[in-house]
Amino acid sequence: MKIAVLSGKGGTGKTLVAVNLADVATNSVYTDCDVEEPNGHLFFKPTEISYQPVSMSIPTIDNNLCSGCRICVDFCRFNALAFIAGKPVLFEDLCHSCGGCAMLCPKSAITEKQNTIGKVMTGNSQNVTIITGILNTGRASGVPVIREVMRCLNNKTGLAVIDCPPGSACVVMESIKDADYCVLVAEPTIFGLHNLQMVTELVQLFHKPFGVVLNKCTAEANPSESYCKNKKLTILARIPFDKELGEISSNGEIAVRCKPAWHEFFLKLLDIIIKEAGYEADTHNQR
Ligand code: SF4
Ligand code: SF4
Repeated sequence: MKIAVLSGKGGTGKTLVAVNLADVATNSVYTDCDVEEPNGHLFFKPTEISYQPVSMSIPTIDNNLCSGCRICVDFCRFNALAFIAGKPVLFEDLCHSCGGCAMLCPKSAITEKQNTIGKVMTGNSQNVTIITGILNTGRASGVPVIREVMRCLNNKTGLAVIDCPPGSACVVMESIKDADYCVLVAEPTIFGLHNLQMVTELVQLFHKPFGVVLNKCTAEANPSESYCKNKKLTILARIPFDKELGEISSNGEIAVRCKPAWHEFFLKLLDIIIKEAGYEADTHNQR
């Protein structure tokens, strides 16, 4: 089973939920798709680490061979090629490596080279396998790195907990594509509500079953909770605003390893998610 944990912005407690859910499972794979700022591994401190580079093919244009016919520029639907001073110019960040321009060029002026854009780090921490996607600084799209992360995940056994990038852009879509269930983490503020609405629309667009974890709950009014009630969304759990939990997280510790009460809390949450997703409650290690 694959559980995706997502939120409309960073700092809502998405990684807190993903890390602790992965840790209470009998046998799990914590999968960090927040490739621009992966930080789940800082909690797990994995050992037996290995790295795998991720590259994508990028066209290179030989201006000496180019006749300036602009077939490649007209073909590229990603606008990665512009026609400047009679020659095509590549904007690497927009290129999706489709290879079409090289195939169509009548002068064979376009060849492809491999560019390293990031890496996938794999390691272990107790009962958890940790897979982390890391996008190189300055790279525009993390989608190829996430695809490689997912390929690595599909070679592992155990319950998968996917820590998605924040927001609702294409990297999030790529991260939830294969998920069996989505957990939306929301804060009790107007901003939290706005972000919850965004990710709710996204998971509904993908027809994913989902539920909401309300984080940092206090006795004050909670706009995110009111939204869930109005829209009849499933509230999976309410995590109270807790100074000690905040300290545990900011020290890079895993709450379920520090305190039995949090272990019980997240184990119960995992059972609820598994049942909501239609799986057997005692199959924490199945996927
Ligand atoms: S298709 Fe080839 S020849 Fe035509 S503009 Fe592009 S690179 Fe130049
Ligand atoms: S490889 Fe595809 S996306 Fe990249 S520049 Fe060529 S046509 Fe455009």
